[in-house]
Amino acid sequence: MKIHEYQARELLRSYGIPVPGGQMIESASAAAAAFAAATAGMKSPLAVVKAQVFAGGRGKAGFVKLVKTAPEATEAATFMLSNRMKSPQTPPEGLEVGKLLVAQAADIAPRSGGGAEEFYLAITTDRKTRRNILIASREGGVEIEQIAHDRPEAIIKEPLHPVLGLQGFQARNVAYKLGFKGKQVGQAVKVMQGLARLFVEKDCTLAEINPLIITTPTPDAPEGNVIAIDAKFSFDENGLFRHPELAALADHTEENQAEMRAQKFGLSYIALDGNIGCLVNGAGLAMATMDIVKLHGGEPANFLDVGGSATEEAVTEAFSIILSDPAVKGVMVNIFGGIMKCDIIAQGIVNAATKHKNADGSVGFKVPLVVRLEGTNVEAGRKLLNDAKSKIPSMQAATDLTDAAKKVCAAV
Ligand code: GDP
Ligand code: MN
Repeated sequence: MKIHEYQARELLRSYGIPVPGGQMIESASAAAAAFAAATAGMKSPLAVVKAQVFAGGRGKAGFVKLVKTAPEATEAATFMLSNRMKSPQTPPEGLEVGKLLVAQAADIAPRSGGGAEEFYLAITTDRKTRRNILIASREGGVEIEQIAHDRPEAIIKEPLHPVLGLQGFQARNVAYKLGFKGKQVGQAVKVMQGLARLFVEKDCTLAEINPLIITTPTPDAPEGNVIAIDAKFSFDENGLFRHPELAALADHTEENQAEMRAQKFGLSYIALDGNIGCLVNGAGLAMATMDIVKLHGGEPANFLDVGGSATEEAVTEAFSIILSDPAVKGVMVNIFGGIMKCDIIAQGIVNAATKHKNADGSVGFKVPLVVRLEGTNVEAGRKLLNDAKSKIPSMQAATDLTDAAKKVCAAV
């Protein structure tokens, strides 16, 4: 599960990591007041308007904008709320923006030798070493993916101790390597250790600050301050049951509607880019089905595991979810009845075929359907389908997995 940046900033603050103040707004008419609040007391007011979407690359896409006046803030907000954000991290059609963050802008210190004092900091799990690791770089900001690819030596990695976490000496070591000096070292150490603690305590799979910055020195802070101005978190959904405070932050408008519908019926559904809908029981069989569809030249439109004990209603719903995807040009049903009984699936198919409403108002399957059933109650299942043949003209039976994959790929 992901959360928005404005929520991530709150979380950082609760772990003692400094972040500039701001507020989330959902309409351009709220931008002027939010600008005034964010810049209150600033000698030369400067705020930043940022699209709140579950994807990065906003800066380069024009969805992070520095503004000096309330009208500028309103203009930036109007633009972001009425355009889809497209970046290498979004689907090609981009993401709709419904929320914005209006925050006090940070004054980023220039770096001697060029650029600005922007750093990258993240904690994630390194599967190779089977440890959580801190990843840091002096070259943070908007180019971090490129740098990791071109110059991996610019990335510092430090493993977390399984029990002790990120120890003080490790954090100091990284702070020196990053080039922090004087008071900045202690501040950077606090940020790193806070982030490491947060990562473990909140069951994160990713905790990222990019950029962590040094602010331009002022009389109050002659060495500048180390603060975070962007953060991204992903949480392990299997750990959410012990973090109701995090589960409450979920933004369902950002999730795939079909995936949410499936969740309600206990179906594991993941939408993919292909055009062959798959209805399968068991995650392993679902993966094997996707593989064999690909082997025969097709592209699966989804992963769908109806589970071991799905009801007739759940199967009917599963069909309706698959067919509601306009990209689906054919459906392959692959059932091995172990706990699941083939006649239940067959009844679900018949129900769906007689009840499913198409977008044009017609009822029944418009796309080719290939069914492969095997296992418990298979005879009863086949009989049910045979008896309903006239109601499902687009249906073909398959004798085995390969036969099914070949038939559905040919039909599509
Ligand atoms: P992302 O592109 O989605 O990762 O969005 P970020 O919040 O990281 O912003 C992208 C870039 O915009 C940062 O690397 C900064 O260079 C710049 N930026 C963002 N916020 C501020 C700010 O408050 N002040 C200044 N001066 N620059 C900012
Ligand atoms: Mn960023």
